[in-house]
Amino acid sequence: MTTPPASVEISETFVSLQGESTHSGQPCWFVRLSGCNLRCRYCDTARAWERGERRAVAGLVDEYRASGVALAEITGGEPLLQPGFPALAAALRDAGPGPLLVETNGACDLRLVPAGAIAIMDIKTPGSGESERFDRENLRRLRATDEIKFVITSREDFDWAAALVRAERLETRCAAVLVSPAAGLVEAAELARWLLESRLPVRLNLQLHRLVGLA
Ligand code: SF4
Repeated sequence: MTTPPASVEISETFVSLQGESTHSGQPCWFVRLSGCNLRCRYCDTARAWERGERRAVAGLVDEYRASGVALAEITGGEPLLQPGFPALAAALRDAGPGPLLVETNGACDLRLVPAGAIAIMDIKTPGSGESERFDRENLRRLRATDEIKFVITSREDFDWAAALVRAERLETRCAAVLVSPAAGLVEAAELARWLLESRLPVRLNLQLHRLVGLA
């Protein structure tokens, strides 16, 4: 019996500016995988919760190559849930100049992200409604090139994130720790002020693509 070609279910592919990591500002080819195991209160990609279109990994790699863009990102939904994710990640990593970024919600085993790819791992705050789902073992699975992101919905969220950064010295576990204001819930200027007052070794991250009117 022959093995079927590797495939994944996707919501969409598109080219935009990367806006949510230290790679922010660069043109990026995105593939959004379908399905998510969380239901964050502020989710702006709920369409990715639905079943998507099944696509062969080889075809997605061809599409990435044809885009002419160096940076690639697998996002979701939660991409690590899909059985075809490791094959897709390895193929995209090997296909282009890269790097390959993988956005993940912190509730799946980070070891699924292959070596050579960069995980951008959310740590969900209490304001998301999903903070209990965080797999704390992922803190020990981070690699030096990975990044951590907190989406902040309130002052309480910021204080919660600050306590975790200090307790676990998160800035020593990865390349960067980022805090982003949840759209419509916290002003960027307010979060910037909290950050400055806290003296935390983390970065303010704004959704750059949204600021310039891109998806
Ligand atoms: S993990 Fe992401 S896709 Fe899933 S519910 Fe939360 S914000 Fe939405």
